[in-house]
Amino acid sequence: MPELPEVEALAGYLRQRAVGRRVERLEAVAISALKTYDPALTAVTGRSVTDARRHGKFLDVVFDGDLHLVVHLARAGWLHYREAFASTVPLRPGKGPIALRARLDDGSGFDLTEAGTQKKLAVYLVTDPQAVPGVAKLGPDALSADLAAFAGALRSRRGQLKGVLTDQAVLAGVGNAYSDEILHAAKLSPFALTDRLTDDQMATLHAATRRVLGDAVTRSLGQRAAELKGEKRSGLKVHARTGLPCPVCGDTVREVSFADSSLQYCPTCQTGGKPLADRRLSRLVR
Ligand SMILES: [Zn+2]
Repeated sequence: MPELPEVEALAGYLRQRAVGRRVERLEAVAISALKTYDPALTAVTGRSVTDARRHGKFLDVVFDGDLHLVVHLARAGWLHYREAFASTVPLRPGKGPIALRARLDDGSGFDLTEAGTQKKLAVYLVTDPQAVPGVAKLGPDALSADLAAFAGALRSRRGQLKGVLTDQAVLAGVGNAYSDEILHAAKLSPFALTDRLTDDQMATLHAATRRVLGDAVTRSLGQRAAELKGEKRSGLKVHARTGLPCPVCGDTVREVSFADSSLQYCPTCQTGGKPLADRRLSRLVR
């Protein structure tokens, strides 16, 4: 699932490549992905791309006249930049992975795609990004929040760090992968409670958040957009590395279920050497 670093890199690529180009046509291929109907997609025809921004994990492509194409890539969505399209014939709505195609005046453009059968990718055409419900409820941005804003946001929600860090209304931009990485870098248990954190632990967590996300943005920006892959990240230390050695201490990275997914962590670095109990499993056994 694309998180803050990948969306930031996509926005950066679009700023370099698409700003100044005029839109020839926006084609909604997966009609269900388009969540707004006014203004219509045809309102963008002939307008120039003026900017590309990020709100949490949302991508915002801005056109002159203050129109915003706001995209949530969900679990399996991605943006593919094409230097050219094979055909100028509009795509027919169907079952393929392409949800929306944007054709620009130099023959290039981009496809929003979504793999798999669970169609969750969402596209909004709005005059104000705050009109998108998911954007309006976002907490402070995980990459730019200062310590006071970060601590205030986390302490506003009592709960386990893993769940609170990934709650977009508390802190915008962090998902399952980078929350594992941030908690590992901060040497904190994913099940630690937000209201029990000392000021020192909060400061460490804040610094780890900025460092982990900042490094990931730098790595993502170093790739060409064509090679940017939301699902294939480099430089991860614990996430998706169950059974492999922790690169910091050599202990074995472990996994435990959390919410509707699972999380990875290093016992030596994060939980005083003690493996976390799998709460769902122990519930079943009991
Ligand atoms: Zn470790």
